[in-house]
Amino acid sequence: MNMIIDLRSDTLTQPTPEMMEAIMNAKVGDDVFKEDTTVNELERRFAELFGMETALYFPTGSMSNQVAINLHTQPGDQLICDKWAHVYNFETGGAAFNSGVTCNLIDGDRGMITAAAIEEAISPIENYHTPNTTLVCLENTTNKGGGACYDFKEILKIRKLCDDYGLGFHLDGARLMNALVAKQEDPKDYGKVFDSISICLSKGLGAPIGTILLGNKKLMQRAIRIRKVLGGAMRQVGFMAAAGLYALDNHVERLEEDHKKAFEIAAVLKKQEYIKNVEPTETNIVIFYLKDNLDINKFLSDMLEMDVKVSTMGQGKLRIVTHLDYTQEMHDKFLKILEHYK
Ligand SMILES: *Cc1c(COP(=O)(O)O)cnc(C)c1O
Repeated sequence: MNMIIDLRSDTLTQPTPEMMEAIMNAKVGDDVFKEDTTVNELERRFAELFGMETALYFPTGSMSNQVAINLHTQPGDQLICDKWAHVYNFETGGAAFNSGVTCNLIDGDRGMITAAAIEEAISPIENYHTPNTTLVCLENTTNKGGGACYDFKEILKIRKLCDDYGLGFHLDGARLMNALVAKQEDPKDYGKVFDSISICLSKGLGAPIGTILLGNKKLMQRAIRIRKVLGGAMRQVGFMAAAGLYALDNHVERLEEDHKKAFEIAAVLKKQEYIKNVEPTETNIVIFYLKDNLDINKFLSDMLEMDVKVSTMGQGKLRIVTHLDYTQEMHDKFLKILEHYK
């Protein structure tokens, strides 16, 4: 069988043999009774890492974000996020469906928004015609923004704004571990600043499923109720949490390798005749554009013929995501393919 080089997403990873062993050996119990020791350990470890009071295990990042939105809002309220935010674009209208909340979208930079833009977007409290702004959602790294990372100083400014206006502050940190590794930041700094943080185990960390939501005790007592109402209370889910624990111990520092490969891909792309532009690459995502006279679908099918899978994001954007299952052998072959493509 040919070697397929699948660069569509970092969610495509298969559990490694070592991760499978951790899954098979997990001690489990009924997590609805809070008796699954592996889930409890995973939650304890994440809470400790970020210096936050409580962590809660979820099946998906969408559910975790949706619970967070519900925690910080009332029906009719408005949250503020970037126009490309996952919470707005890729959670099936969940903010409206689950919480009766509208999104005030900011035209940010590669999925990132500033304190100044947020302040302008907050509805004036004295104007009873406008929806009540109660929540700011950031994404770090940004997905549609190409794995861009926030400057922590801007996050601090936004925190101050949330204090001044009494707003909740949620971080969709699906790929937060990539940002922490890339910028060598301290998770505890994030724990101090956000009211809630959602972190996916099923992206670059390579677990089959799972997301962690972090917050203080009071908030998370409500989170467990809302997780239940969305159907997210699970039983012997320690088998999956064991994969998350394994990933936390073994797959965080290695994200650096994914980033290095992404930088190398970006550098090669930049030199090619057929490329119009490559967006700045900061972590494991490379977004690039073909020259205007070239057909994206032809490029995709040419790649497919060479056993390479790349994805499109609309508006002429092509996306490559490096990950755990993208080996050095695949990388060497892929760089040659890009260099020789005509
Ligand atoms: C993947 C992702 C999520 C969560 O997605 P699920 O598929 O529901 O786990 C949330 N936010 C961002 C930015 C993501 O990339």
